[in-house]
Amino acid sequence: MVPVTTSIFELLKIGPGPSSSHTIGPMKAGFDFMRLIRELPEADRKRADGLEIRLFGSLSATGEGHGTPRAILSGMLGSQPDTCGADTLERFMDKDKPFDLDLGVKFLPFAPGEIIMDAVQHDYAHPNTMIFRLKAGDTVLLERIYYSVGGGFLRWEGWEEPQRGDPVYPYSTMAELKKHLCERSIRLHELILANEMSITGATEDEINMGLDHIISVMEQAVETGIQTSGVLPGPIGLQRKAAAMYNRARQEYFQGPGFIKALNAYALAASEENAAGHCVVTAPTCGAAGVIPAIIFMLKRHTGALQTELREGLLAACAIGFLCKHNASISGAEVGCQGEVGVASTMAAAMIAYARGYRFQVTENAAEIALEHHLGLTCDPVGGFVQIPCIERNAMGAVKAFNAYLIASTLDESYQKVDLDKAIRAMAQTGRDMSGKYKETSEAGLALSFTEC
Ligand code: SF4
Repeated sequence: MVPVTTSIFELLKIGPGPSSSHTIGPMKAGFDFMRLIRELPEADRKRADGLEIRLFGSLSATGEGHGTPRAILSGMLGSQPDTCGADTLERFMDKDKPFDLDLGVKFLPFAPGEIIMDAVQHDYAHPNTMIFRLKAGDTVLLERIYYSVGGGFLRWEGWEEPQRGDPVYPYSTMAELKKHLCERSIRLHELILANEMSITGATEDEINMGLDHIISVMEQAVETGIQTSGVLPGPIGLQRKAAAMYNRARQEYFQGPGFIKALNAYALAASEENAAGHCVVTAPTCGAAGVIPAIIFMLKRHTGALQTELREGLLAACAIGFLCKHNASISGAEVGCQGEVGVASTMAAAMIAYARGYRFQVTENAAEIALEHHLGLTCDPVGGFVQIPCIERNAMGAVKAFNAYLIASTLDESYQKVDLDKAIRAMAQTGRDMSGKYKETSEAGLALSFTEC
């Protein structure tokens, strides 16, 4: 089987919320299409007089609420997710206001509201499809079909895996990964680090700096979120809860239920920042961007974890995220929320165990327990906004991760009957069997019953 070659910084990406499939992927598509336009012959760019952008699948069903048209426009105007700034999408709130796209030889005005919400059900290769066309009258001068495949990853028709180095320790399953760990007497974080260096060519220092930056963006999202009150953007009028929750936890000196309240508050905080469209880290997606930051914040504040332990824990979490992405999916549009908050919780459980000094068997068991109890979780965001159930679901994912760690680290390892590979296979199969209505379309479940109330 093809080995995992995903980079750490492809899985953990900095960018604007509220949904990596709906904001980060589309922003990259907008940026890429403008790059292609500028490569066209000058004569074509001069006669171009129109732009046609069509969104399909969940991008059509819930793109409006997720800010997809704004993200596309922002990308077309030169924004990149990791450098675009916290409030970049707020410029595009008026969907009828046109912006001048620079074709190099002329400007083409285009407004976010001109983007066409096309079919939810379709036959393209991925549920989240975007078609970009540059036109002169009825003539198509340039066309690219993009797929926003989850976690901010972007593919397109004809896309080929870029050339990269081979992993030093190739694996495609947890079983293969464990074989390397046993046979080579290497620790899990060392293996992931060695593979990253070999795959991307980055040095150990560069990778550690990148991890520290990711950790600091996560911490900042929690820090900002626990200090911010008020109502989140969008028609639901959802009140932020993190600050109030955090204050209750503080009054209880973070002891007993106060500790769980703090953990909830941290996850709510980063998720609310995501829902506000501010900068977060896909871990593994924007929708699930509250779980791992909550665990990092908790480990640092409440257990005194060192930076090296956080880095090592994050590398262990990445190993688990890679396997979930490789053998199932991290896209709510493909497998429902089990692939988003479910995978985030799975990664987080592994992270706690590993950062607390447990070796790979307890780490795997913690991950498996967390994933097992997210199987079948659907994606049904109310009104297409990553708010209900997403924000509280992140809090539940963080608490479940902690509980999975407690079960795995308290009981004898031999009690564990299901391994992580089996749970990932179950997630993939459950995702295939799940009705399309429950995959980020807001056509069923809570999204429907809330509307009907
Ligand atoms: S329900 Fe889960 S998968 Fe769906 S948008 Fe919310 S966080 Fe993402």
